[in-house]
Amino acid sequence: MRIDLHTHTTRSDGTESPAALVRLARRAGLDVVAITDHDTTAGWEEAAAAADDAGIELVRGMELSTRHGGRSVHLLAYLTDPADAELLAETERVVAGRRDRVPALLAKLTAAGVELTADDIERATPPGAVTGRPHIADALVARGVVTSRDAAFATILGPNGPGFVRRYATPLVEAIGLVARAGGVSVLAHPWARSSREVLDRETLARLRDAGLTGVEVDHQDHDSDVRRELRALADQLGLVVTGSSDWHGAGKADHELGCNTTDPEQYARLKECARAAAAAAGQG
Ligand code: AMP
Ligand code: ZN
Ligand code: FE
Ligand code: FE
Repeated sequence: MRIDLHTHTTRSDGTESPAALVRLARRAGLDVVAITDHDTTAGWEEAAAAADDAGIELVRGMELSTRHGGRSVHLLAYLTDPADAELLAETERVVAGRRDRVPALLAKLTAAGVELTADDIERATPPGAVTGRPHIADALVARGVVTSRDAAFATILGPNGPGFVRRYATPLVEAIGLVARAGGVSVLAHPWARSSREVLDRETLARLRDAGLTGVEVDHQDHDSDVRRELRALADQLGLVVTGSSDWHGAGKADHELGCNTTDPEQYARLKECARAAAAAAGQG
């Protein structure tokens, strides 16, 4: 059984629709695929219908924007109630923060001598998508300023670039609680990638587990083999579920093909069991 628990579609910064994700996942030989767009459940319905047709199991998820120790931390949330008012209000706050950073970002680009307009960004953003820096990167590519998303992040949009603007993200511990109260389970996305490793040490992971964290994504392209070995051992000691996934963005991210990393079926079963318990505790039976 091949299981990929982290992908993005045109509902955030991926380049394929939710239905296309499901079809491509089937073609890639996957039995289970999760849709985890940034801060939104907007793709769930379309993906679920396509999954029924394709005969593949869909896991409904999101990748939440959170903050811990001053660093950006991505938290995968699975199987939450999409109508949960508290979680919905919080993701709306995050999405508003994404939208509101655009004018400030454009002003910084102008000051740095980079010509880009709100119209350019709108043209590069699929209708209804949660806006993200990759769309701004695409707009910069369309303008001929850079040649790829990677180049845009390396020279302009990264944390040290002239176009970087901080935005609101949910405090991590608060996000873990929100997910649990919405009947779902949370898994830290690529926790030891460069941006977040320093603030997610052993003691912190133990504390997050006690706060309700279910798992950590170990097999991810941003983790080399040494990091994976070390993190897997730590997860085992702490009793955290271990996942693996592609973090697929379609054509938007090189070297993240569907199924390039997968989750062990036993670990996936544990994740689902924890979700059943969370849903029962949240009164969803
Ligand atoms: P944002 O969440 O809008 O601040 O943008 C961060 C997102 O950009 C991440 O979630 C990644 O999906 C994407 N990203 C980060 N670095 C790169 C890169 N070098 N190339 C393409 N996408 C990237
Ligand atoms: Zn993304
Ligand atoms: Fe991420
Ligand atoms: Fe992601």
